Amino acid sequence: MISIDEAIEQIKNHIPRPTTRVIPINDALGCYLAGDITAPEPSPRYTSSAMDGFGIVYDTTMLTEQPICLKIIGESAAGKSFAGLVQPGEAVRINTGAVIPAGVDTVIRVEDTSEENGNVLINVIPKQGQDIRHAGEEFDQGSLLLAKNTKLSATHLALLSAVGIGEVAVYDPCKVSVLVTGSELVSCGDEIAPDQIRDSNMIMIAAAIREAGGEVVETIRVEDDAAATEKVIDEAKGDLIICTGGISVGPHDHVKGAATAVGFKEIFWQIKQKPGKPLFFAERGKQLLFGLPGNPVSAFMCFIHYVKPLIGAINGFPFGWPILSARVESAIENRGKRPTMIRVQLKWKEGTGYSIISAEKQGSHMLTSVTGSNGYIILAPGEHVRAETRCEVHCYDSKREIFPLPFSG
Ligand code: AMP
Ligand code: MG
Repeated sequence: MISIDEAIEQIKNHIPRPTTRVIPINDALGCYLAGDITAPEPSPRYTSSAMDGFGIVYDTTMLTEQPICLKIIGESAAGKSFAGLVQPGEAVRINTGAVIPAGVDTVIRVEDTSEENGNVLINVIPKQGQDIRHAGEEFDQGSLLLAKNTKLSATHLALLSAVGIGEVAVYDPCKVSVLVTGSELVSCGDEIAPDQIRDSNMIMIAAAIREAGGEVVETIRVEDDAAATEKVIDEAKGDLIICTGGISVGPHDHVKGAATAVGFKEIFWQIKQKPGKPLFFAERGKQLLFGLPGNPVSAFMCFIHYVKPLIGAINGFPFGWPILSARVESAIENRGKRPTMIRVQLKWKEGTGYSIISAEKQGSHMLTSVTGSNGYIILAPGEHVRAETRCEVHCYDSKREIFPLPFSG
């Protein structure tokens, strides 16, 4: 049996080199940028009107002369700008976003005007330069727009489109096969016998892979049968194969034997930890394989601590976890004989910052121990953290809402 740190070292030694590809922005939602994006042009690209109204040449007599009467000499519409030079005493009708014609330095909103015989009457005292959007006022050409590793969202795609970037280089996501083992398993919704178990690992692991930035290429369930397990492992399409169950020492546990039989080389098996002791890691050429334990909580914790950082590394991130320091509300102790990942509820409190309490139920078969927590602390055997001290918390997800966000309609 190896330690948690030794297992992490082994995994780090086997991180595949990330690869990238260039794709249309239409297909890039949720992908991770493979490099910084700088602005190929300034924004706004040209100086334009912020309002519907009239473009004019400001002069100081406007401070006293009311109403101001100017001759309308043309129009600058969005996509159809005014070509001439505007002189003092003249005005050009202008729309929001339209190019400011030469000579114009001020825009009067249409609400502050009236029209008479081809002239515009201005009923307010204008401020020079008002209601004009200046070229480059948002950002200059060459500014950093999006940093490497940004996970592309709807607004990121809009920004790329706005500056004319139609294709981006993104990391190739890790392609993962999910193989769930267990003759006792039935799918949610199927009829269930008294001695059967509903499969919760398949949907959990597939969803967790997607959340981590991986791509699920197949999900397969297999009976506890050596030959059947060998076949699905041998034929798995993913660069990464994640099995659940069948990795312990029972007579119906076939994953390790099957993987070895089809050419996988063991990197490690069994870690001094709770939960998740039987974790198995192996390789065959460029394919990596994890055998996660069958208990859903053990499978999840192994996924979060060992597999998720690997999937992140394939998307160009440093191997690691979102970790923060929090105040311990009431004492937490590891009474067991192995280092233990104790699930905790992390909360943000006004004034005191982050604090944690241990999740009430910690059983490795109790999914509520993970739905009711958002992180974990790792304590050595006999280790005890006292109330009011601080400790490091590994968070399941850097985005999970741990702030008490107000939500109102
Ligand atoms: P195993 O590691 O295969 O011995 O499984 C350990 C425990 O986890 C057993 O109680 C299994 O029934 C349960 N288990 C295994 N796979 C799953 C799964 N896909 N969904 C829910 N429970 C499972
Ligand atoms: Mg099993």
